[in-house]
Amino acid sequence: MNHLNYPTPDTFTRAKSAELFETAKTYFPGGVHSPVRAFKSVQGPPVFFERGEGCHLFDVDGQAYVDFCCSWGPLILGHVHPEVVERVQKTVANGMSFVAPTPHDNLIGKLVLDNHRYIEMIRFVSSGTEAVMSALRLARGVTGKSKVIKFEGCYHGHVDSLLVKAGSGLVTFGISTSAGIPESFAAETIVVPLGDEEALASALQQYAGEVACVIIEPIPANNGLLIQQQEFLQYLRKVTRDHGVLLIFDEVISGFRVGFEGAAGLYGIQPDIITFGKIIGGGMPVGAYAASREIMEQVAPVGPVYQAGTLSANPVAMAAGFATLTELLKPGIYQELEAKTTRFTARLQAYCDQKGYDMSFPQAGSIFWPTFTRETIRKSSDIDDAGMRLFKVMHLECLKRGVYFGPSGYEVGFISSAHTENDLDFAASQIEASLDVVFGK
Ligand SMILES: *Cc1c(COP(=O)(O)O)cnc(C)c1O
Repeated sequence: MNHLNYPTPDTFTRAKSAELFETAKTYFPGGVHSPVRAFKSVQGPPVFFERGEGCHLFDVDGQAYVDFCCSWGPLILGHVHPEVVERVQKTVANGMSFVAPTPHDNLIGKLVLDNHRYIEMIRFVSSGTEAVMSALRLARGVTGKSKVIKFEGCYHGHVDSLLVKAGSGLVTFGISTSAGIPESFAAETIVVPLGDEEALASALQQYAGEVACVIIEPIPANNGLLIQQQEFLQYLRKVTRDHGVLLIFDEVISGFRVGFEGAAGLYGIQPDIITFGKIIGGGMPVGAYAASREIMEQVAPVGPVYQAGTLSANPVAMAAGFATLTELLKPGIYQELEAKTTRFTARLQAYCDQKGYDMSFPQAGSIFWPTFTRETIRKSSDIDDAGMRLFKVMHLECLKRGVYFGPSGYEVGFISSAHTENDLDFAASQIEASLDVVFGK
């Protein structure tokens, strides 16, 4: 089985990673270009990777890992999928950017719109954050209103007015969670708890006539996996429609992940605007926002809502996205991903049950969240920080055994089409051994 050079607790080393990290810290704030990468919530220096293939990562110290981070989700086909690589290589050889339309635009446009019943037109941008930022501007442009309602525990990228948390009380103005955000920006955002119909209704009533949109991750997966009840999402749709407020589904993580039509398709709910990112770029920097023709025709140059981008829909990124989405349209792929993930989480759950470990593995399609409780968690205030200390131990023990999780207990795991039953069996047995250490058995 161990034909790949997986580490063991006796052989594991981060010598080269540690050295590179020391140098990186002299160049970049915290040594990184995105904060979670610095491993602040787990132990030791970040692992520096040299290569990925299928579901495996290979670090600079020559060790292999089964990857459950998958670039935070984009790599639903695993690393260097042959069709994706081939299409990207062919495309890149013909030029990387023309700041002009290319035939690729139409290819990916047709592919997405022909296979997604909840959108009629789409605009490509270069990140999930940019997609959300543009969707908010569009919602404000369409409604002429300025306030936004968001849910505590949903992440929407680093958009100024959405980097906020709730104050005390059920319906509150956002309190900025980052320096550099003017209070007046944060005050445009109203924060309510997830799953709370009453709080949502009272926010809409209290700010009637001022709210442009409600934004939600329909499958919140950036702060644990806080699976919502379908009735709540249906209520959200109804109550926003009743108030003439637009509903934005931020499907940057759930889009093309829980099915080609994402959470909209899964729950059968028609939002007004959907944002995409991650999978839609197949590993390249891509985001997109999409809606009905009527709403999208408010965007420049047709409509008055300005939005632009030098590298938007550049052919190389579109090639990666197109190749990835083409694979995802093959019959059975989502069923297989989900079945694999269910078998994997069921095995881990059975082990924890047998050993009496207080853990559960909530799952949505091929997303799962190892969490140190047996309670069903649907809102962020129900997450117990004590579990994060246990995650810290689990993360290190898993690393030492060749299993790579994203470096925070608030992050979810992803399974790709490249994870084989063998890989998952190997990973599960290593996770089980790690949990024995965590729980001191
Ligand atoms: C990842 C993510 C974003 C931000 O996307 P970036 O490409 O990192 O800017 C926004 N919303 C959701 C739901 C996400 O998962």
